[in-house]
Amino acid sequence: MNRTDIKSMDLEELTEYIKSQGLPQFRAKQLYEWMHVKLAASFEEMSNIPLKLRRELEEKCELTVLEKVRVQVSEEDGTAKYLFMLSDGNLIESVLMRYHHGNSVCISSQAGCRMGCKFCASTIDGLARSLTPSEMLDQIYRIQQDTGERVSNVVVMGSGEPFDNFDNFIRFERLLTDGNGLNISARNLTVSTCGIVPKIYELADMKLQLTLAISLHAPNDEKRRELMPIANVYSIDEIMKACRYYINKTGRRVTFEYSLVKGENDTDLCAMELSRLVKGMNCHINLIPVNPIKERDFRQSDAVRISRFKSKLEKNGITVTVRREMGRDIDGACGQLRKSYMEHLK
Ligand code: SAH
Repeated sequence: MNRTDIKSMDLEELTEYIKSQGLPQFRAKQLYEWMHVKLAASFEEMSNIPLKLRRELEEKCELTVLEKVRVQVSEEDGTAKYLFMLSDGNLIESVLMRYHHGNSVCISSQAGCRMGCKFCASTIDGLARSLTPSEMLDQIYRIQQDTGERVSNVVVMGSGEPFDNFDNFIRFERLLTDGNGLNISARNLTVSTCGIVPKIYELADMKLQLTLAISLHAPNDEKRRELMPIANVYSIDEIMKACRYYINKTGRRVTFEYSLVKGENDTDLCAMELSRLVKGMNCHINLIPVNPIKERDFRQSDAVRISRFKSKLEKNGITVTVRREMGRDIDGACGQLRKSYMEHLK
């Protein structure tokens, strides 16, 4: 029998579930607190729940707790990359980044990915499966427990395409920002998508206060198709229209991510085209020097090119940042640690 995934339930649902088991309602609140505030890693720890009931719950319910397989800590900047094992043996990775303004955790939304972006290591072996809400949450919970330091920001920018796992992502968002749980503000949550247009509209209509980031990586469809297969499904025009709708509905600024690949998308002409695309939009461009992976021969634009690209955009009145590279010495790019670990197992 499949055990019930109680950590993916909100307090109301958990209360219904507890009542359906003939148990008093207040047990739901206790359980919820153990899972989402005290971040308990076992039923064993839940000391205000009678032992007999703990055993009973353990039999019926799944308490999603990820197993830490390996942690790699960067000597350069303290960035820590976690490799976790899911209960079915699948592996995922998450990254803790330490900034002055607090700790940020980058989580995976799927084990593997089926989007096929050319520069990305996560997608090389395809999609294993989507993660449940509790598996997304627990990446943050385990890291907070492991370090003893509060996580203040969450970015859904690890392996996987969150909008290819949309319903679970939305549920995850609700649980993460719940005042009865870890209570992380939606404003401190960023979700990054390769641009699945219908989901951008759906998200806009929910009017959440999170930050939407779009992986653009090219200023026109032709170039984008060379890097991202999803560009064969949705055009940049459609993405921009959806983003404008999103901005109107939510009042939030959208981020465009643009990974600079030497000789591919880093020319002055590209910077001009990109400027034209986003002109007048309430947005921000995040330039990412591409992180070379060994399976592909994409190379990073040199520093002079990056700064020229940036200043071209700035001259057109666009807000730009260049992402600080963190954890380069620890397989920083999405999916690299998982992949190298799996290869070592083969
Ligand atoms: N599927 C989502 C989120 C995952 S990737 C998305 O496409 O947005 C998070 C960001 O890192 C995306 O912008 C992705 O395109 C980028 N990325 C992936 N591999 C990279 C690499 N090797 N170098 C630079 N950026 C990379």
